[in-house]
Amino acid sequence: MGSEDKPWWLKPVRVIQFNIEDRYGVFVSKISGKDLVRLAHELGANVLVIFARDPWGRVYYRGSKIGPTHPKMKGDIVREAVEEGRRLGVKVVVMVGHTANKYVYETHTDWAQVNVRGEPILLEHAPYSEEGYEVEWPQICINSPYIELIKEEIREVIDLGVDGVFLDSFRYQPDIERACYCRWCCERFRSKYGYGMPKEPNWRDSRWRTLWKWRYEVVVERLKELYELTKELTKGKEVLFMYNSHPGGWSGRTNRVVDLGRNYYDAVFAECSEADHQPPGFITEMVKLTKAMNGGKPVMPSRNYFHMYRTVASTTPIAVKQGLREAIIAGGSPWLLIFSSTYFQSPKALKHVKEVFKEHKVLEEYLDGAEPLRYAGIVVSNLTRDFYGREKPDDYVDETRGFYYALTHHHIPVEHVSESDLTRPEVLRRYRVLILASTVCMSDSLVGSLRTYVKGGGKVLATHLTSLYDDEGVSRNGLALSDVFGVEMVGVFKSPWSYVVITKREHPLFEGIGESLILWGDMSYDFRVERVARSLGWHVITRPLSGEVMAKVGTAVHEWGFEYTLGRSPPPFASTTDMPAIILNPYGEGTSIYFTGQLGRHYWRVGLPEYGLLIKNSVKYLGGELPIEVGAPETLAIESFRQGERLIIHLLNHTYNQRILAIGTGKVKQPLPPYSSSEAAHPPRTVIPVSNVTIRVSLKELGNFTGFKVHSPLSGKVFSYEVRGNWLVINVPSVNEYEVVVIEPKG
Ligand SMILES: [Zn+2]
Repeated sequence: MGSEDKPWWLKPVRVIQFNIEDRYGVFVSKISGKDLVRLAHELGANVLVIFARDPWGRVYYRGSKIGPTHPKMKGDIVREAVEEGRRLGVKVVVMVGHTANKYVYETHTDWAQVNVRGEPILLEHAPYSEEGYEVEWPQICINSPYIELIKEEIREVIDLGVDGVFLDSFRYQPDIERACYCRWCCERFRSKYGYGMPKEPNWRDSRWRTLWKWRYEVVVERLKELYELTKELTKGKEVLFMYNSHPGGWSGRTNRVVDLGRNYYDAVFAECSEADHQPPGFITEMVKLTKAMNGGKPVMPSRNYFHMYRTVASTTPIAVKQGLREAIIAGGSPWLLIFSSTYFQSPKALKHVKEVFKEHKVLEEYLDGAEPLRYAGIVVSNLTRDFYGREKPDDYVDETRGFYYALTHHHIPVEHVSESDLTRPEVLRRYRVLILASTVCMSDSLVGSLRTYVKGGGKVLATHLTSLYDDEGVSRNGLALSDVFGVEMVGVFKSPWSYVVITKREHPLFEGIGESLILWGDMSYDFRVERVARSLGWHVITRPLSGEVMAKVGTAVHEWGFEYTLGRSPPPFASTTDMPAIILNPYGEGTSIYFTGQLGRHYWRVGLPEYGLLIKNSVKYLGGELPIEVGAPETLAIESFRQGERLIIHLLNHTYNQRILAIGTGKVKQPLPPYSSSEAAHPPRTVIPVSNVTIRVSLKELGNFTGFKVHSPLSGKVFSYEVRGNWLVINVPSVNEYEVVVIEPKG
């Protein structure tokens, strides 16, 4: 159903990224560009991604002026790949602009990124306390003349006829440990602002925040230059320009680059290196996050061919297959990252890549131009992560992720929404509920547009410090949205532990919870200095202005509990205060539910059902009837799309063996050695099939049609259905790894 004349990257693609990345080039002499394209083609991919040069600065094509040719290269890898790619219909995209370049570091050391202590900024990981470490992948500064070399690199590869250029590791970080203080940066900053770069991360100092924002401006400015250069050089041709956001790495900062730089790339690569130590569904989550940041442009997330960081050996077939499918069900294109060592030493899992790519080809016509069925939107605020989260972005990020996973586990359609889209009413209107998960930082104009949204019938679920700061991170000493929430903020109740005392137990908000007392807070898993997770037991102290108080804050008898492991356990309940904990407030034509504490973080950290139920019930109360309801275990991921008159429902089974075996509990006084380590992260090895899945689709979603064909394009199965009331009810007898259910009008 998608148009055929759009650029190739706007259609679903299948990508093999083949990295040749080692100091001695152990495998380089065995690799030809032709073979790489043939490998990609054989696996069913239609895009191959390779380096133009490696992080040591050695070039993988002949005749370059930007660095030495790789001494171990026999042929001419990039040229051969481009030629063979043309023949076999495989697009060849090359990685350029790698900010790590050891050759340049050793020949133009003054171009290097150096931190505030004068140390070269590393791309690699070196042990925290290792002494005398010699940098292997030094980063070079994009404010130095190095940028001209990157431009030359782009000119060279475009001359070779590549189908795309890709800024892979293009890094310039605002965080103090890895922020650049080279002379080029110092000079540029001083000439723009008239003062030197602050050397301390003092967030109350506007000059530090100016520097922080300038770091992003530098990246976006360079992105723009390189994008425009590429487009200028390739006028009339379909040459892709893409950026690697690595959304769950680099403290999440690159998400802001993607958001600010929306006009300066064609697609985003969402590197998902963390997938093996993150929840099942992480790749899906990162695709949705990146789509929110990039305004809906194509997203290609990576599934690694290996487990954790063990690049030389393949991971399990299940990890590879389900990871690639995680991309597909989120509306992204599957992308496999393989290293030369894995390829030569451990090719056994490649046939499973082929299996998924084959599926993807079958599914192409159901993916192209499909739009998600939308219901809940979680606001992602890069400003809050930076200006409120500061050196500890996890408190804020956990609050948003808790909502994301609770809704996903309850099969409620959920997406992310960028703060930069909140002033666009057409974006807000897509969602039945908007979630402001302690969205602390907001500009006045954003506050205004949210107010208008709720007044006009919008529904918001907000928590904790939402709208306390402006977009510069300056406190308003009150919640700007207090009228929408129906409360006035008068302080913060800072208690290590507290309770939420439900006062309206019969209300649908509390369905299934079965108790009136909900513990608020969690122990620290570090335990070196603090007993509890930072600020998790806290509440905003409010005075009700309007609306209905559904629950109140309860106090605890002490700062910690005396039972069991004294000092780690929580204290018992003391008494109910008059402080509201949950307020339901009609506002104009709309409604808000406001939690004074951090509900999302509780689900993220603790996972007890009551927190998930509070999230699910609140969202459903506000949003009303779901477009689709699924009766299946929470481990079955459901993603639904509309494509013209079709509905397409992806069912991906994450019912695996247990993956995280143990977790540590930190250090205490008079520490004893642990009984056993807590560093166990297993790949999924097996999938346990799920049976009797019931899918109920609201007839409102199906137009005026009366007869439907319900089928799976993957297995060819036709599913029976019946109409019950206002619902079309489908039974899927069994889902093994992955199933797709398509509902389309008959005839
Ligand atoms: Zn610099």
